[in-house]
Amino acid sequence: MNNKFLVTEGNANFIVGNAFYRPQSKVTRDLGILAAAIYKQETGKLKVLDVMTGCGVRSLRYYLESGADAIWANDSNPEINTILEQNIINNIPQNKVKITYKNANKIFFNCYDNQDYYDLVDVDSFGSPNPYLSTMLWATKIGGLLYLTSTDGRTATGHLPQKSLQVYGSYARSHPASQEQALRLIIGKTLQQAVTIGLGIKPIFSLFTGQTYRVMMRLLSKPNLTLDNYGFIGYCHQCGEYKTVSYHQLGKVKCSNCDSSVIISGSMWLGNLHEREYLSKMKTLAQQIGWLQRVELLSIMEEESNFPPYFYTLGEIGRRGKLDIPKRSQLINGLQNQGYQAVLTHINPQAIKTNTSLKVCIEIGRSLLNQIN
Ligand SMILES: [Zn+2]
Repeated sequence: MNNKFLVTEGNANFIVGNAFYRPQSKVTRDLGILAAAIYKQETGKLKVLDVMTGCGVRSLRYYLESGADAIWANDSNPEINTILEQNIINNIPQNKVKITYKNANKIFFNCYDNQDYYDLVDVDSFGSPNPYLSTMLWATKIGGLLYLTSTDGRTATGHLPQKSLQVYGSYARSHPASQEQALRLIIGKTLQQAVTIGLGIKPIFSLFTGQTYRVMMRLLSKPNLTLDNYGFIGYCHQCGEYKTVSYHQLGKVKCSNCDSSVIISGSMWLGNLHEREYLSKMKTLAQQIGWLQRVELLSIMEEESNFPPYFYTLGEIGRRGKLDIPKRSQLINGLQNQGYQAVLTHINPQAIKTNTSLKVCIEIGRSLLNQIN
């Protein structure tokens, strides 16, 4: 190995060469490592299929840090073979790893054909994950984990609604909380695909890093799509309020605040963004290994788990209320003092999640400013 180009991430040392590696995505790998390690602790097993492995960093880290028993590292590009094989051979015993260069869908069907199911299937695709949303289910163990990537933010945040219809089967509209919508579209589409083959999924965690959307989901043995967890959000351009909308309410949706028509976006996952108990275990592990930045992130994610499927930005509160933008911490305190639930959201550092309306946020923002002046 040429040490001149040696990169270290977590416990893994590797070279990048002509293979794909994006240092900025480390947070997505760290959370994947933690989730996989908890899975191993709980089940005693961890067989990983890393189907778009690039330079192999995730495979190395799942083995070295999550305690994986077996790894299948695959990439569709055979030209990276020298780099990938060197990285893998230097870190993982040969009897615990398999390396191939095939299209991901061929691998998934091969797994199904051989009844070779995986505890964790990591699909770190570029652009939309759509070509693999249904097929990856064929390679995953019931109860196992699926870790999906989307870098196609424009489609899911409402800038290309027609393309969104093609990719997600959902009409995505643009509104201030559209990054959360992108996560919910990915989960919703995967759920919809799972139920068509008699299975279900639920999110373990949903992560937005500013560029990349990453969702860790668990494959369930029974369909779990319902009118409560799969539907639409309505956004009122007139006053900025949101509401969730069920299929049976379509056609009679008005803004609860100003009675205007609302735009309808979806359908998508409306249930919790994360499994709070799982995040808590990941946080404890992150604390034990001294990953303090991840502890901070996981704390925010834990808190935001069980809120309505949207958030309010401070900019909207200021603009709609015609007031100076309130400080996030003060607004959260103000809401909590009035008996509302209010928390940070990891998705947008200039937004809050709360169980009350934008109107109440504006009123409380205004009263806070009056107190200061
Ligand atoms: Zn309205």
